[in-house]
This record gives sequence, structure tokens and C-alpha cells, in this order.
Amino acid sequence: MFLIIIHLLFTLFTLTHSISDHPILIVVSFDAFRYDYFAKKVTPNLLRLRERGSYADYINNVFPTKTFTNHHTIATGLYAENHGVLGNSYYDKIKQISFKIGYELFHYDETIIPIWRLNEMSGHGRFSGSMMWPGAAFEYQGKLPTHLQKFDPEWNWYKRVDTVLSWIEDPTKPANLVMLYFEEPDTHGHAFGPKSKEVVEMLQRLDNVSYYLHEQLKRKGLTDKVNVIHLSDHGMTTVTPANFIDFTKYLKPNTYEIACTSPALHVIPKQGMEEEIYALLKNASQDLGHFTVYKKDAIPSRWRFKNNPRVPPIYVVADEGYAFQDMFESVKYFSGRYGFQVRNDSEFGIHGYDNQLPSMRPFFLAVGPQIKSNHKVAPFNTVDLFTLFCAILNIKSTRHDGIYSNIESVLVGYHASMLPIVVIIVGGVTLALLLIVCAAVATLLIIKRQQNITTAAALNKRFPQNFSHSTIEAQHLLEPEDA
Ligand SMILES: [Zn+2]
Repeated sequence: MFLIIIHLLFTLFTLTHSISDHPILIVVSFDAFRYDYFAKKVTPNLLRLRERGSYADYINNVFPTKTFTNHHTIATGLYAENHGVLGNSYYDKIKQISFKIGYELFHYDETIIPIWRLNEMSGHGRFSGSMMWPGAAFEYQGKLPTHLQKFDPEWNWYKRVDTVLSWIEDPTKPANLVMLYFEEPDTHGHAFGPKSKEVVEMLQRLDNVSYYLHEQLKRKGLTDKVNVIHLSDHGMTTVTPANFIDFTKYLKPNTYEIACTSPALHVIPKQGMEEEIYALLKNASQDLGHFTVYKKDAIPSRWRFKNNPRVPPIYVVADEGYAFQDMFESVKYFSGRYGFQVRNDSEFGIHGYDNQLPSMRPFFLAVGPQIKSNHKVAPFNTVDLFTLFCAILNIKSTRHDGIYSNIESVLVGYHASMLPIVVIIVGGVTLALLLIVCAAVATLLIIKRQQNITTAAALNKRFPQNFSHSTIEAQHLLEPEDA
């Protein structure tokens, strides 16, 4: 009987502690959580996590500052032009259709391996999970992550956390990497603008669910075993209908296609119409102002966007705070969904602008056994995150655009390179020794020369006719007298 109880207790113990032998990481994304939302002072738990672990004031995300683009950059470490997710949709010139979210959007290049696949491909019982992560509901290299919940906004946030923790404690396939996504404060940010009380309420809710996640980890004894990175994909800025620009008034109907959403639109002219449409759009931008029209080759290189076959022949990008005609539809949707009247000065939220704008910046913080405490890292790039994930998971990274040295200081055990200091010390000591040796040699030579002069003078005095030739002999002859 006693043995059976011991056996049952042991089984219970192993079941409750069936976590992966590999380093464990949860990446939590709060869509459109702008880096400076902390200044609203409604997220005490996230602020405490910042103090407990490592954080950056902000991250430099990739252009366009859109959700799918940046989530895929987080997952792959690649710029938009290299992973091909150039926005929330794209127009396929050969098939002559627009692709919105789906397999095609995320598979410009079949060889690209997102972090959840790379983790499982690294073998030895590594399992990944995706809780609604944008782009993770599609196969890569023919496989889905072991644990997968597709996007469903109806899912309660606490149920998402509980499910993620159940994957980590799965008795047979314990996840060592989970990507966890929340669609807020993006949704309410778009509908009410980043300054709204609705966004504040979402931030409070996200702060509470973050507290719940870390409390559950503590309760399960996993705080020292699980690394958690909290981050976002982009920021948000205010736009009003007064700033919606309808450039289609300048174009002839049925001469073009439009893909993506404000504030950066792909314009795909029909065969032979490119020059005319470009000229009309340039004209519109001069008349109306507040947006720029690019031919493909003139798109700024720093955006790391234009070297991809999906880039449209013409690209229009609005200035911050402005948007295009597609926004009339969006605000109509929001007014219907949330029941309010749209006025010319009603505030809405928008993102997707130039990634150099502070309003587009996301945030970063991390805690866990492999993360340094009370550490602030200088702002780094969203493309660098992939290298951090690989380092935490102890897997070999694949092709990426990141720079590991930008971010490695957040890891426990990292110390700034001692090489320059060692070079300075060794160089300095060598130089000092050389100087001492030189000084000693010079002193000896001077003494010897002095002795020779003295000797020669003495001998000349004693034997004036014989001693101008050999000082060695002279020295020998002098010895008895000098001794
Ligand atoms: Zn987003």
C-alpha cells in the first residue's frame, strides 16, 4: 500500500513537472502597443516586469509599419523585401487577383523558416505552439506548429494564457517555444484613436492578463524556467476624416487596381497605363498635398522594401496623420460596430507610416532565467529579435537580417568583450618593457664608453707611445692598478 502511494505521488509529481528539457520561451505580442503607452501610467504590472528584467525604450520596426509585415519580421528576422509580406495584402500581376491574409501572402519564398518551425526542425524533442500568431496558421516546409490555435477574437484572453501554459506542461509534447498574440490595443486604437479612454481600458486589461500569466508561472514553479518576452509590432497615430485623401478622383475608372490599406497603397496600372497614372497621381499629390507618389525604383532604399517582385509599379504613401479613400469604408465599419456617428473631426487610429516616425515605434521587455535583471538595452531593430530567440532557445539561426550584438546584452552571462582592454594592457606593458630595455642598453653603452675614454686617457698617460690601438689590452693592463 505504502509503495503504491509513493508511486502515485511520483507519477503526480512527474506529470505536474512535465516541461521541456530545452530552454523555454514565450513571445507575447500586444498588437499596436506603442512604446510610450507606458507613460499613460495604467500598466503597473508591465512596468514592474520592465524593472525586473530587461527592456528597451523602443524598437525600430520595419516598413511598412503594418501588422503582418512586422509579425513576420519578428518570426523570421527578415526585412519586408526579403520575406515578401509587404502589407496586409498584395496584387498578383500574373494571376490578376489580390491576396489578403492566407498561405500565399506568407509564402513569397518557400525556403523562409519562421522561428516556430526552426525550433521544431532543431530536433531533440523541441515543440512549438502558436496562440493566434499572425502567419502561424499556415504550413511552412509542409508543417504546422505542434500546438496551434488559429485567430479567434472571441477567445477569452485568460483562456489563451491557460492554453499556452497547458502546452508548456503537455505530458507528451511539452512546448519550449510559444508565440502568443493579442489583437489589442490595435482594434480599439483604430476605432477610437490612441488618445482614447477605450485604448486606456485595453491597456489595463492587457496589464491584468500579463499579471495573470506571470502569477500562473509563479504558482506552477515555472518563473525560473520560462523566459517571457513582451513586445509589439508597431505604434499608432491619430487620423480624422478631414485628412482622408481621395486620389481616385484624379484617375480614370478601370485603369488600375489597388492593394493594401492606408496609409501606404499599392497602385497597379492596367497594361500600358503606368506612365499616365503616375503623371495623374503626381498631379494629385501636388494639388492635394500630404502624400508622396513613388515609382518602384524611387522607393527609399532604407525601407528595405523595394527589392521584391511583389512591389507594385506605383506606391503611394501618406504623410503622418493623413490617409486615403479606403478609410471612409473603415470608419463606416467602426461606427456600425461600436455605434457612433462619424464627424469630420472624429479621431481614429492608423499605422503603416515611415518606420522612422516615433509614433510607429513598438516596445520590448523580457524576463526569465536567461534574461538579465534591471537592465536597459539601447533601442535595437525588430529584425534583431530572431537572433535573440535563437540564442535563448540554443538553436542555430538560419538566414536573417538581424545583428545579434545589438541585443545580446540582455542575456545573463553576457559581458562586454574584454579584447580591447586586453590589447591596451598587453600593448602598454610591452611598450614600457621595450623602453626600459632601451634605456638600460643606452645607459650601459654610455658607461662603457666613459670607461673606455677614461682607460685610454690613463694608459696614454702611463704609456704614451703604445696605447692608442687596443682598449681590450689596455683594460687588461690597467686591471691590477684599478682593482
Ligand atoms: Zn498590428
